[in-house]
Amino acid sequence: MICISSIIHIFSVILLLSASLTSSVSIPEEFINCLSINSQHSIPSSAIYTPNNSSFPQILLSRAQNLRFSEPSTPKPELIFIPLNESHVQAAVICSKQVGVNIRVRSGGHDFEGLSYVSIIEKPFIVLDLVNLRSISVNIDNKSAWVQVGATLGEVYYRIAEKSNVHGFPAGICASVGVGGQITGGGYGALMRKYGLAADNVIDARIVDVKGRVLDRALMGEDLFWAIRGGGGGSFGVILSWKIKLVPVPETVTVFTLNKPFNTKLLYRWQQVADKLDENLSIRIQMQVMNASVVTSYIALFLGGADKLVQVMQQSFPELGLTRKDCIETKWIQSVLYLDGNPVNTSREILLEPKFSFRFYYKSKTDFVKEPVPEIALKEVEKRLLEEDFAVIVWTPYGGMMSKISEYEIPFPHRRGTKFKFHYLTGWSDGEKSERKHMEWIRGVYDYMTPYVSKFPREAYVNYRDVDLGLNNKSNTSVVEASVWGVKYFKGNFKRLVRVKTKVDPDNFFRHEQSIPPLLL
Ligand SMILES: Cc1cc2nc3c(=O)[nH]c(=O)nc-3n(C[C@H](O)[C@H](O)[C@H](O)COP(=O)(O)OP(=O)(O)OC[C@H]3O[C@@H](n4cnc5c(N)ncnc54)[C@H](O)[C@@H]3O)c2cc1C
Repeated sequence: MICISSIIHIFSVILLLSASLTSSVSIPEEFINCLSINSQHSIPSSAIYTPNNSSFPQILLSRAQNLRFSEPSTPKPELIFIPLNESHVQAAVICSKQVGVNIRVRSGGHDFEGLSYVSIIEKPFIVLDLVNLRSISVNIDNKSAWVQVGATLGEVYYRIAEKSNVHGFPAGICASVGVGGQITGGGYGALMRKYGLAADNVIDARIVDVKGRVLDRALMGEDLFWAIRGGGGGSFGVILSWKIKLVPVPETVTVFTLNKPFNTKLLYRWQQVADKLDENLSIRIQMQVMNASVVTSYIALFLGGADKLVQVMQQSFPELGLTRKDCIETKWIQSVLYLDGNPVNTSREILLEPKFSFRFYYKSKTDFVKEPVPEIALKEVEKRLLEEDFAVIVWTPYGGMMSKISEYEIPFPHRRGTKFKFHYLTGWSDGEKSERKHMEWIRGVYDYMTPYVSKFPREAYVNYRDVDLGLNNKSNTSVVEASVWGVKYFKGNFKRLVRVKTKVDPDNFFRHEQSIPPLLL
């Protein structure tokens, strides 16, 4: 019979051994050893970067959009792993679990709060950078495409247009955004009023779940498939690819930009009509300071020719004063370039070289508007814009298809009754030095807008992530705490997201500052 003292002796030897093991084997070493055991394909050394590697800072920042999270004081990952295939991703999930390290998943790196490559609430963490999973396979016959998550939207648009000039996809305006993150939060662009969001047009997906299994729609089931289309990235697993539905676009579309001096009457009129216009027409407003005065740019896409557009505008929004000579007829793919800020005849090849348009320090916030904002409040917004160094407010019209899709169809809930979305953004270039001033400015504008925007909840767009709305604690945030920001992003869908999370990831392995928490069982 084994006596108590020998049990204690064996136990202390095990403790000593494990202590010496943890002190001698670093997290990167342990993780790398585990990867080699768990991956079906060998892993080249060029797929792994630790802080000892001279290219580490460059790789970390290669897809880091917001310089606010590139400061020396920003917490850094223990390691960056750049998988070359699906089996590498499976191994990464298994090994981060085994090693006990938090995993951040990065596709295009455009997260407004840097959550795909920075962890504020917990250390250690590693970054899984999916930049090399970027194949796109377009099938015009069945009007669909399989798109790996590391591809940019620009690449998706390019590959569709390569095969057809009468098909498109209703995703974001900025071509450098990653397909991976964008679809997890919704994804809107100039085709939204006609076809809804990118996430509304996903028909299948492949995901690595918490057990390291690759699941497609049939295997993951409809609950998880629902949650990943709009429930926000980084909560349910690592998406590998999306199967998207292509949408028809005419051979000729029309674009225009009309720059107008700040005019509250015209802005008020836009608010009355923008969500009721012909679904083929989307006119967004970009409001910013130019030469010491606020200029409003009315930027539009019309799915049709210029003559028809002028007719539509004369009937529904004559106050804008659009004439035939303001209109540019072009192909849909060129309209993509134009709406992203390029001349309309720009070579489409640039869509294959992602351009990082907002590479500076920035902070953004969003609001959804249900009733026109009165002119007096718009005057105050003008005054505040003039006080800030560089700030933009973008007004994106809703209505059309967005009002026809139920707010429960996918987790993105901002549908019927929404007139438009405000996106407030301030940017600066001198880092932490002036950060406080700019943060105060944007928070001040947001506070000022309170009476004029959605209420109970004050809705926000999860893809324009805003940690001011609330943060999870390390790994044990209560659902009640998280619902403070959760209902702003997802309204009533937050509860269902929590239920799905509890089912597929009850131990909260996939977590970050604003991931969906499971119910504590
Ligand atoms: C300059 C700029 C322009 C933008 N324009 C638009 C626009 O026109 N329309 C619009 O709707 N949005 C727009 N956005 C917002 C953008 O859609 C979101 O920031 C989106 O989440 C970015 O996706 P990403 O893959 O580039 O980012 P990432 O930073 O890589 O990821 C964003 C989030 O998704 C998670 N995630 C990323 N990949 C995966 C994956 N494979 N599996 C699971 N989780 C994942 C990350 O962990 C992170 O939480 C813009 C953002 C910027 C900075």
